[in-house]
Amino acid sequence: MPISEMTSLSTECLLATRPGYTDLHNSCHQLQDIPLPHGIGILLQSRCACSCHRSGGRA
Ligand SMILES: [Zn+2]
Ligand SMILES: [Zn+2]
Repeated sequence: MPISEMTSLSTECLLATRPGYTDLHNSCHQLQDIPLPHGIGILLQSRCACSCHRSGGRA
């Protein structure tokens, strides 16, 4: 996985890329972009880009 994608992962899925922590993929619930209040186009947290959330494939 490219580094640019790694930075888009949630804390859970980022940890889950490590051996022994793969169960953390199940703990990630960062499936939607979270905008800051008073929407000024800035995301508080962006959607997790981990491949474990890709539709069509159950990982
Ligand atoms: Zn994941
Ligand atoms: Zn995730």
